[in-house]
Amino acid sequence: MPFNDLLAANAAYAATIGHRQLERQARAGVCILTCMDCRIDPLPMVGLEFGDAKVLRTPGGHLGPQSLVGCVLAVHLLGVNRIMVVSHTKCAASGTEARLREAISASSGVAAIDMVFGADSDRLGHLTADVAALRAHELVGDFAEIAGFDYDVDTGRLTQLC
Ligand SMILES: [Zn+2]
Repeated sequence: MPFNDLLAANAAYAATIGHRQLERQARAGVCILTCMDCRIDPLPMVGLEFGDAKVLRTPGGHLGPQSLVGCVLAVHLLGVNRIMVVSHTKCAASGTEARLREAISASSGVAAIDMVFGADSDRLGHLTADVAALRAHELVGDFAEIAGFDYDVDTGRLTQLC
């Protein structure tokens, strides 16, 4: 079965952590919206641990309808008062929509793909716009500090941009 290795690892994991009674609230009051990229380890990257932060991950770390819902829930119900929006270098969502579509056509054999991938030819401009949208949102902006960051996947360095 394709997931047996993961379930076996989970059994070992569950045996070590026991029954933790963690609060639903993010202990450090932080929400991190970032990319699905496997080179980003959101909690240790900012010195946080299990239970400290809400983490929302999307392709490119972009703000969309579901990640916006996550931010609203985080701010009003889950103890969050700081939101970090984190873009990163070497993102697979960079480039043009046409190029992404071509690559996925080549991989899948499906010629006409009816899907928007949200490719990002202006990665940092997109980050700035997402931060501005969160700051302007009536259910988010007045309730949390919001900032945009760039993460370098080679050095591990995080830089605040806005
Ligand atoms: Zn990415």
